[in-house]
Amino acid sequence: MSTAATHPTTPSTPVAGPVVVVGGGLSGIACARALHDAGREVVVVDRGHRIGGRMASKRLEGRPVDTGASYLTVSDRRFAEVVEAWRVAGLAHRWTDTFSVLEPGADPSAKEGPVRWGTPGGMRSLVEALAEGLDVRRGAVERVESGDDGLRVVADGVDLPTAGAVVLAMPDEQAARLLGGDHGAVAARLTRPSEPVIALVARWPERAWDSAAPGGAFHGAFVNGDD
Ligand SMILES: Cc1cc2nc3c(=O)[nH]c(=O)nc-3n(C[C@H](O)[C@H](O)[C@H](O)COP(=O)(O)OP(=O)(O)OC[C@H]3O[C@@H](n4cnc5c(N)ncnc54)[C@H](O)[C@@H]3O)c2cc1C
Repeated sequence: MSTAATHPTTPSTPVAGPVVVVGGGLSGIACARALHDAGREVVVVDRGHRIGGRMASKRLEGRPVDTGASYLTVSDRRFAEVVEAWRVAGLAHRWTDTFSVLEPGADPSAKEGPVRWGTPGGMRSLVEALAEGLDVRRGAVERVESGDDGLRVVADGVDLPTAGAVVLAMPDEQAARLLGGDHGAVAARLTRPSEPVIALVARWPERAWDSAAPGGAFHGAFVNGDD
């Protein structure tokens, strides 16, 4: 997901100069937020119309609909503090700890798990809130090159500063495509495969599915045993 390519002449010492974060999904924005709050100059670049990446939400018929991640869980103390701030700001709320399990030939069953948190405004709103005050630019990065004075992030549609460090906050396959030449060794380590998914949004005229949930309130379902 995230990979740092530092200038090859200073691989293990703190780097000077701005940091360019490529990718305005949650990981890129969280990284940029931490750097910015620590006093570093940081520029985020994303090729999308809006930031958020796979925390993707659209407005359909007046309602926010998540087409990527639809909930989050909290298992880390520091992340719990972030989520609590989102709760206080009205950006996130506790949703449910119980989903239904649907599989062929079996009655629906209930599966408890950690509390899932949802958002009234769509998951993208969390990334946008985290990005407030950051320098976020739109452009499609084509490659990262080493220069005498630092790393150059070559992008279509936007000028970016020569960087002391570059963060590639995106799936491995996408990050590897941006690295060549003297960063080939980094690219070779980006081997985690991605799986394509289809997100389908369906709409019914009225809510009629609570009877499919053992507890009488249907929040979501894991569908097993079905290709
Ligand atoms: C359908 C679906 C459902 C999911 N459900 C859940 C869930 O319920 N709960 C959960 O916790 N997780 C869920 N996930 C996983 C979660 O969405 C991801 O783990 C997380 O959003 C990844 O964030 P990221 O910042 O690492 O990457 P991404 O969100 O993929 O961000 C990468 C960003 O990089 C940008 N980018 C890529 N290449 C370039 C380039 N060359 N130039 C400029 N910009 C570029 C992209 O535009 C993108 O914005 C789901 C994922 C999907 C797809």
